[in-house]
Amino acid sequence: MATPLVGMNGRELEAFFVAQGESAFRGRQVAKWIYSRAAREWSAMTDLSAAMRNRMVAEGVPVGPTTVEERHVSADGTTKFVLRLHDQQFNESVQIVHPDRLTACVSSQVGCAVGCPFCATGLGGFKRHLTPGEIVDQYLTMQHEAAGRISNIVFMGMGEPLLNTENVIAATHILNKEVNVGMRHITVSTSGIIPGIERLLAEEIPVNLAISLHAANDTLRDKLVPINKTYPLGDLIPLCKRYADTSNRRLTFEYVMLRDENDSPEQARELVSLLRGVHCHVNLIPHNPVDGSGLTASDAQIIRNFRDVVQNAGFTTTIRFNKGQDETAACGQLRGRLPARRKAPARS
Ligand code: SAH
Ligand code: SF4
Repeated sequence: MATPLVGMNGRELEAFFVAQGESAFRGRQVAKWIYSRAAREWSAMTDLSAAMRNRMVAEGVPVGPTTVEERHVSADGTTKFVLRLHDQQFNESVQIVHPDRLTACVSSQVGCAVGCPFCATGLGGFKRHLTPGEIVDQYLTMQHEAAGRISNIVFMGMGEPLLNTENVIAATHILNKEVNVGMRHITVSTSGIIPGIERLLAEEIPVNLAISLHAANDTLRDKLVPINKTYPLGDLIPLCKRYADTSNRRLTFEYVMLRDENDSPEQARELVSLLRGVHCHVNLIPHNPVDGSGLTASDAQIIRNFRDVVQNAGFTTTIRFNKGQDETAACGQLRGRLPARRKAPARS
């Protein structure tokens, strides 16, 4: 298969067209079509000659590397897209509708090797990394159909972005420079992969960082986020502090609320002492049901009590409103395989 256009940066697109015997300017025109206007077909690029477009189609040069296999629209407007990749794997992305903005939740891998026991992606194991083009294409696919501009991107879909750091950084640069999404509107959520965080720091990539903490001591975190055995809290938290201090940005700590596992007032106080001195925000996430996890969500009142302890200690603390649960589009419900056939068939 010829290399798809989406995934090439501006310079690579220019070089591609020069190699085709066209001018570099064609590359800039095409960059505008695919990245600024989210065109998905050659036929949409009406200021290019029909002869050239026909030649590209005849040569089988795809615009994007993925195609929409299924869409699932939740009652709250959250839309889950199941995308087919060239090797017949599936990848999932979610468009989230907020009152004031649209957010694209994108995946960085098919599956995930970290294996958190409360997460559907983790329970399914690791399949492969996504390429920069496959990451960017998720945003473009959703933008193509969106009612307005998708202004925010969160790497909170399938996979651990900082175990695919090279491709995630390349995708971030395309999203920033070509698609024009501000770095400060991009959030990378990580289970705490220290070399990846260090690389973001070293390359001064000013994305927002969200750390999936879920436990405030190593014994519990080894169980809930197994990569903690490799990157324990004693190394992770000082690095988070350095990230916040160096980038002058507030970090987010995510904490999924699991009944009788990590939700007691003592555990809230343990969290407070762990995070003391780190410029951060705490986001409590009620657990979304996942078949086979054996774990369940904390009661709403337990979550509020936990929030109060953390908030009263001086941390801004929010409880994440779960979106898309009815279509298994919510955090940690993405599996990357086709669900049993049901409503919402693919639009052609
Ligand atoms: N791998 C990265 C990013 C993807 S997961 C990470 O772990 O940060 C995005 C967020 O959803 C993480 O905070 C993750 O812990 C959380 N999550 C996973 N499964 C969940 C579930 N079943 N219910 C609620 N949140 C979940
Ligand atoms: Fe991987 Fe994140 Fe799921 Fe853990 S929560 S298994 S790191 S996707």
